[in-house]
Amino acid sequence: MTTDATGPRRILILGGTLEANKLAAALNEQAVLEVITSLAGRTAKPKAIAGQVRVGGFGGADGLKAYLKDQAINLMIDATHPFAAQISSHAAAAADQAGIPLLRLCRPAWQAAPNDRWIGVDGLGGAAKALRDAGSRVLLTTGRQGLGAFSSLKDHHFVVRLVDAPREALPLPSYEVELGRGPFSLQEEVALLERHSIHVVVAKNSGGPSTAAKLDAARTLNLPVIMIERPRAGSMTGHEVETVEAAEAWIGKNGWLS
Ligand code: NAP
Repeated sequence: MTTDATGPRRILILGGTLEANKLAAALNEQAVLEVITSLAGRTAKPKAIAGQVRVGGFGGADGLKAYLKDQAINLMIDATHPFAAQISSHAAAAADQAGIPLLRLCRPAWQAAPNDRWIGVDGLGGAAKALRDAGSRVLLTTGRQGLGAFSSLKDHHFVVRLVDAPREALPLPSYEVELGRGPFSLQEEVALLERHSIHVVVAKNSGGPSTAAKLDAARTLNLPVIMIERPRAGSMTGHEVETVEAAEAWIGKNGWLS
């Protein structure tokens, strides 16, 4: 399809987050916009998303650039998860090469409250190292990928929270799976920690309200949290906002709705 100055503006949202879904719903209401949300395809049954949806990788930054051209995309919004560093770096490179604007929507990181017992670490490897000196019953909330980082911890038992049941055995010496998709309440999280006699929680500093209750629950029960800090951002060429409302405001202010 082709787009001219008077035709619809085609927006690609790189998604996989609640914020991406909310933004797609808001922008899809605008008659002058055509909204496509892109998902990596990691979740078996993703939540319903307004507008068009495409699924699967693009084949690197060059593949994404080709997609932008082929689909005549006018504006790309990177609303991927703060830990999805590779796609964000591809988005920056592809937008630059294709000569289209890029807006990054990234929720702010969580901040420790006064009574929190957080141990800040870099990456899953850093979390595994920190666990050697922590309790042996662990709530692991870092997702399905990269669990091999914990495979040498033979004296630990992991309660692994996942959205989908794993198809294969996880690379952990001793574990059980708790299926669940946020948002979780404080009561649910306290009950989970108590039911499994958890000593320590491992989390990524994802930010946002949907999965924050585990941190409140850990504080309530005076448990330590091994907090994996966000990957360092690569070169960011576009504008950055922290909320869906700020993204909508930026889009309006920059003339995409007129
Ligand atoms: P990643 O490491 O940054 O990306 C790996 C590859 O997956 C990318 O190079 C790209 O493949 C493909 N990809 C990622 N996001 C995509 C998207 N929205 N649309 C199309 N292709 C995408 O990403 P990740 O950490 O595996 O996360 C995958 C997705 O899950 C992201 O969309 C993210 O928003 C969501 N998510 C991630 C986390 C997390 O903790 N990392 C948590 C919640 C949700 P090609 O190179 O082939 O284009």
